[in-house]
Amino acid sequence: MKLRTIRDIKGLRDKKVLLRIDANVPVKDGKVLDEFRLWAVRPTIEYLTGRGAVVVIIAHLGRPDGKRNEKYTLKPIAKRLSQILGRVVTFVPELGGPHAKRLVEAAVPGQVFMLENLRFDRGEESNGGSFAKKLSQFGEVYVNDGFAVSHRAHASVSAITRFLPSYAGLLMERELKILGGLLAKPKRPSVAIIGGAKIGTKIGLIKKLAAAYDKVLVGGGLINPILVAKRFEIGNSLLDKVDQATLAPILKLKNLVMPVDVLVGNADKPAAPIRSVPIATGTPFVICRKPEGIVDIGPRTMLAWGLLVKRAKTVVWNGPMGIFEVPRFAHGTMALAQAIASRAKGRALGVVGGGETVEAMYKTGMAKWVDHISTGGGAMLEFLEGKVLPGVKPLYGRMKKIV
Ligand code: ADP
Ligand code: MG
Repeated sequence: MKLRTIRDIKGLRDKKVLLRIDANVPVKDGKVLDEFRLWAVRPTIEYLTGRGAVVVIIAHLGRPDGKRNEKYTLKPIAKRLSQILGRVVTFVPELGGPHAKRLVEAAVPGQVFMLENLRFDRGEESNGGSFAKKLSQFGEVYVNDGFAVSHRAHASVSAITRFLPSYAGLLMERELKILGGLLAKPKRPSVAIIGGAKIGTKIGLIKKLAAAYDKVLVGGGLINPILVAKRFEIGNSLLDKVDQATLAPILKLKNLVMPVDVLVGNADKPAAPIRSVPIATGTPFVICRKPEGIVDIGPRTMLAWGLLVKRAKTVVWNGPMGIFEVPRFAHGTMALAQAIASRAKGRALGVVGGGETVEAMYKTGMAKWVDHISTGGGAMLEFLEGKVLPGVKPLYGRMKKIV
């Protein structure tokens, strides 16, 4: 089935476009701290405004739980978006009153509005039809460019598609194309690298990637439950409790690669001495005892995995290799991020995704050398696991009859 995109919308001039984006970015004292997701929707907004559409942006921020709460207003985001776009984004502090409606109706071609936080209305998270209908007054067509929010069946990505002809934005199209291609036929040698904190959230992803990739390198806190299952002693290391039945299929994977060494330190005292410890095979083995724990992958692993990345034609990476927020525990994550960036764009397809992973990638200053940095955290994981995302499904195939 074909994805309907904004390129399929006829006669954009003067057309009112309701545009869902992911603007759920960290804001402190009215300042946007991380704007990567805002830059990512610029091409779509430029495409629409450049053709004379009137764009009404809808988005959410945080968890105000269905109530108005000034702490979560989208006002600072509208302001920052104006600067990023180089055009005025008029903030409308409502979600559908007559004032908002009049403003949008009087708009001139190319004008951009942003409505208030969708989650100020309970109907958003309950996927309510009447809330979606209210939102639909602001557009003649609906465009979803919020890939990162499309794994949740909320009104602004799901119910809304019953009321307006619906299309994918350029970011959505790109995410689906690139992430879809990752599973279809990755060029070999293909390497997937999975790290992060909780293995429970990534079991499905590991299984799926193990089926499609030559090697799946597992690092970060994800190795800890595996080590415990193999009767290693790991002291104070972070331990995500998963039951044996869940873990068993992972332990059986032939192409799963564990680190050959880890860095051990005291996460509560980052200045305390750190040391590298090899992971022996065979007999149960003490890696560290309390108060020490595993904080990163070790130097031999960095080299070995760097070489695997260097030979790969496809590299996909999600999840830090250690507690990268602490500079001394960030070497593994940084080394891999740099290896991927130096290999990507040409010699290999390099794709990186996940909240903290993207943050780490930007920390290296080499993000622009990666082919694709996904805006989707949870959405990317679910998509790669093969789930059908409720916000994506309605954008495929022939248009349904609109109520
Ligand atoms: P992402 O958001 O990129 O998918 P996760 O949310 O799964 O990544 O995990 C990110 C977190 O994992 C980071 O905050 C990092 O500190 C933590 N982490 C990685 N390795 C370890 C480890 N060995 N011990 C404790 N925490 C870890
Ligand atoms: Mg995360």
